[in-house]
Amino acid sequence: MTTLYWEEEIETLPRVGLESIQLTRLKHLVARVYDTVAPYRAKMDAASVKPTDIQTLADLQKLPFTVKDDLRDNYPFGLFTVPMDQVVRVHASSGTTGKPTVVGYTKKDIETWAGVMARAMTCAGATSRDMIHNAYGYGLFTGGLGAHYGAERLGATVIPVSGGNTKRQITIMQDFRSSVLMATPSYALNLADAMAELGVDPKTLALRVGIFGAEPWSENMREEVQRKLNIKAVDIYGLSEVMGPGVAMQCLETDRGMHIFEDHFLPEIIDPDTGEVLPPGEQGELVFTTLTKEAFPLIRYRTKDITRLIHEQCACGRTMIRMEKITGRTDDMLIIRGVNVFPSQVEHVLMGVEGVEPHYQIVVSREGNMDTMAVKVEVSEAIFSDEVKNLEKLTRKIQADIKDLLGVTCKVQLVEPRTIQRSEGKAQRVIDNRKI
Ligand code: ADP
Ligand code: ZN
Repeated sequence: MTTLYWEEEIETLPRVGLESIQLTRLKHLVARVYDTVAPYRAKMDAASVKPTDIQTLADLQKLPFTVKDDLRDNYPFGLFTVPMDQVVRVHASSGTTGKPTVVGYTKKDIETWAGVMARAMTCAGATSRDMIHNAYGYGLFTGGLGAHYGAERLGATVIPVSGGNTKRQITIMQDFRSSVLMATPSYALNLADAMAELGVDPKTLALRVGIFGAEPWSENMREEVQRKLNIKAVDIYGLSEVMGPGVAMQCLETDRGMHIFEDHFLPEIIDPDTGEVLPPGEQGELVFTTLTKEAFPLIRYRTKDITRLIHEQCACGRTMIRMEKITGRTDDMLIIRGVNVFPSQVEHVLMGVEGVEPHYQIVVSREGNMDTMAVKVEVSEAIFSDEVKNLEKLTRKIQADIKDLLGVTCKVQLVEPRTIQRSEGKAQRVIDNRKI
């Protein structure tokens, strides 16, 4: 028997009904967070807002925002609202300075997450009959386990292949008849190219659909991956702070936008400069309030992702709002081979090395389907005129330090003093040559 994970009653609920559920949950959440988490209480007190001030969904705007620094300041578990014996899992975001952002889940949170992931897979047409090839990385990163639990909830067969070992992945796809591929879009393209090299015709595989996300990708990339793998490619969005993958998901009826699972995640779009909520349909920074999370709820969390909300009803029947593809970020975060990299982290490494000048440039490119990062950095006259073997040693040390701290392999190039262009305003630290 084929089963779907189609929660029809809630997924197609008329807006009034949905909003009433959201309001009930919001009130409950704000009261609980105020009572249990001192940093939240302090922020609400400072803004002179009490849980009882939340009487409508619009009252959400009275509440202060939560930002990534709040998470870092309360590292690792300071914003958890339940005792640790109720926390059954933690994850952490990739590639951050010494202190990653840590998130926690209760048993019920894991169930909620599996539920939204199963819904997301259903949006892509997956059923219990599918063989789900999960090439998202397993580990602290939310992608692997998030997709895994969702696939099991759906009742499909999950292949926990994780990332890497591309040749083996292709053999598994052939032998196990994988029908749904879950991966980052750039890795999906890698797989496609590896198939071409090995002479494997994707038409001989059972692959039907790809669920791709965790990094930005363009419509052009969608077309390319669809053509090269002979599948339909759909977009999935999420971030570890809010849950992980499965916050929003594209359905098969539209190429425009992803349904946000609004019974769990309440979205707002704000002007990133003023913090004001923008009128419906305008582009701005996406903000989320988690309505049902137990261990690590968030109130008005600023994602720094830029998008707009689409209010029109979708042909699939789901009444949940859609968000357009992410078009950018309000900060300078780069995602390089799935790792979040901030230029300030590279700077931090460079400044810890003697003889290195505070002038550097990060060049990001895409070779084939692989992101590459190169760092050009000025060194002092004395160092630059040193023996070649010493320069090479220094280069290797910086590369190793960056790899250690950020988890990204990069190519370091030492250059003479005053060769990196000085800017008159904001320094252009990053040149991103990727056409994505
Ligand atoms: P995860 O570990 O789930 O990738 P992270 O917290 O490391 O989450 O990164 C989340 C960020 O990844 C998002 O804020 C967004 O910038 C980016 N991202 C995730 N999914 C997508 C997507 N489908 N399209 C564009 N960017 C995405
Ligand atoms: Zn739809």
